[in-house]
Parts: sequence; structure tokens; C-alpha cells
Amino acid sequence: MSHDPSSTRTALRICPLCEATCGLTLTIEGTRVTGARGDRDDVFSQGFICPKGASIGGLDEDPDRLRTPLVRKGGVLTETSWNDAFDAIARALPAVAEEHGAQAVGVVLGNPNVHTMAGALYPSALLAALRTRSLFTASTLDQMPKHVSSGLLFGDPNAIRRSGRIELLPAPIAADLPRLRGALAARTDPEALVLIGRRHLRSNNSWMHNVAALTGGSNVCTLQMHPQDAARLQLADGAAATVTADGGELTAPVEITDCVRTGVVSLPHGWGHSRPGTRMSVAAAQPGVNVNQLLDGTRLDPLSGTAVLNGIPVTVAPAH
Ligand code: SF4
Repeated sequence: MSHDPSSTRTALRICPLCEATCGLTLTIEGTRVTGARGDRDDVFSQGFICPKGASIGGLDEDPDRLRTPLVRKGGVLTETSWNDAFDAIARALPAVAEEHGAQAVGVVLGNPNVHTMAGALYPSALLAALRTRSLFTASTLDQMPKHVSSGLLFGDPNAIRRSGRIELLPAPIAADLPRLRGALAARTDPEALVLIGRRHLRSNNSWMHNVAALTGGSNVCTLQMHPQDAARLQLADGAAATVTADGGELTAPVEITDCVRTGVVSLPHGWGHSRPGTRMSVAAAQPGVNVNQLLDGTRLDPLSGTAVLNGIPVTVAPAH
């Protein structure tokens, strides 16, 4: 639908950025979103929104926003048409499954599925056609241990526990206790550090660093460290520190704060915009570091199979 470029109108929309589905009242001038606030009459969100929803105009205008499919040609991601993209998938996907088995094809489902009928209806058909169980979502990263323990305690939505009781100490968890005790007993070094993540209020750690309004302020990629640890390691506030773990190392500026306890350092996830091929011109000015570089993928929670992303052992030293 075309709009008079000089006209200003108000549109009520559902924020498409996450599952919370908050109501937005948008001011639209021509085709530009020039204002966004919470819709007070939305029965669900009642006028409340987060900074991401309020910045939806900036996101819509992002010059680097993906507008066409990209297909890797000669190692370089290249803009192409939807027909070409589907042709590339039709050529390459069966060969991958044939050579490496159906489980070698992974499916990642994300927030957009909450906002489209197709996204809600087609994943099960797609998974059945691919015959893969390699399904990944945000939940497989951050919720599976809770799902597994709740299932063991209470049963699952389809099957109440056979005992009809709440199992306060399910056998699989009881069998894992020696490993837990052993891991705690092995932590005898008072100077050992573990790395945890953190969320930023302004971006919620979504990849929104290409929207100027969602960058800066407290939204910075620093290595938070307790004053006692910083003194022991002779690191000043703002100094560059090298963090090393199983998978590799990275360098980040230190932020000394008592918001973390001794023995704990913190880096936010969702950064590292300087890697080759990253098309984020605003974010590239403050690229930060990609915390995933520290992981080698071998640390798994044995009961749920979930990748361990928090509390990983690291060493920290002044960067040279
Ligand atoms: S991104 Fe923010 S405003 Fe949008 S739906 Fe989620 S919580 Fe609501």
C-alpha cells in the first residue's frame, strides 16, 4: 500500500521483536516510523514496552538491515533473490543429509515464529520432512536444565508421574550428586575465576547495536571484576585484560565494580561486531568481543545435554 509521504498517521501494532508481543502506538510520517510508545489500551501489555520496542523506528531505518536473502558465493555472503536462495538450499541440503545423515541438518527457531501463522504452522512439517532431531531455540540454550528437572520432579504436561507424587529426589539427579560434590571439592584455588554473562537494560542483549539509540551509556562490553581481584591482578579500571578459557582468548577493557563478587568476572553476550563479513556499520564503532570465542563446545550439563555457557573457568591477565 502506498502512503502520501507528507501524511502523518497513528498505527496500532504488535511489537514483532520478542514473544512478549507488546502493543505499540506508532507515529508514521509517510513510510517512516517517527515515534513509538506503549499502547495503553493493549489488554496484554497495558502501555509498557522495553527500549527495543521504543526504538523500532531506528531499527526499521537501519541502512544495514537485511532486506534480501544472502547466499555464500566463493566464500562471500552475496545478496540474491528469494528464488536463487531457495534453489541454493534445494541443491545443497539433500547432499548434506546424504553425506552426513539427517541429524547433520540443524533447525534454529527464533522469535519471529511467534508473530506469523506460517512460523507457527510449518516448523513441525519442515522437521518431519528433514527427519532431523537437531532442533535449536533460545530454550535449548537457557531452559532445558529447568525443563528436565521439572519433568523429573513433577512429570511433564502429558504424563503425570507414575507415582502420582512429587519426586523430591529423582534418581537421575541423585545419581549426579557425586559429580556435583566432586566439582565443588575440586575448586580449592582461592584465586580461581569463573566467567558469567550479563544482560544490558538498554538492548536486552539482542543484536541491536546497529541502532544508535540502543548503544552507549551503560550498554558497553566490559569485563566486570571485583576490586580485590583487580588489585591482585594489577588491573586498573579501563585497562585491557586478556581472558583465556578452553576455546581461546580475547581482550576486553576492565570495569572494576563490586556488583560482582570475588572470584567472578562478567562479560555480556551479543558483541563482537568486527568480524569479517559483519554488516553492522554503526555497531562496528564499538564492536566489543564475542564471548563465544572462549568456548570450545565440550562443556555440557550431563543430565540435559545443554551447553554450559556460564560459570566457566577462565584466567585473566593484563593484556600485552
Ligand atoms: S521487544 Fe520489548 S517492546 Fe517488543 S515485545 Fe519484547 S518486551 Fe515488548
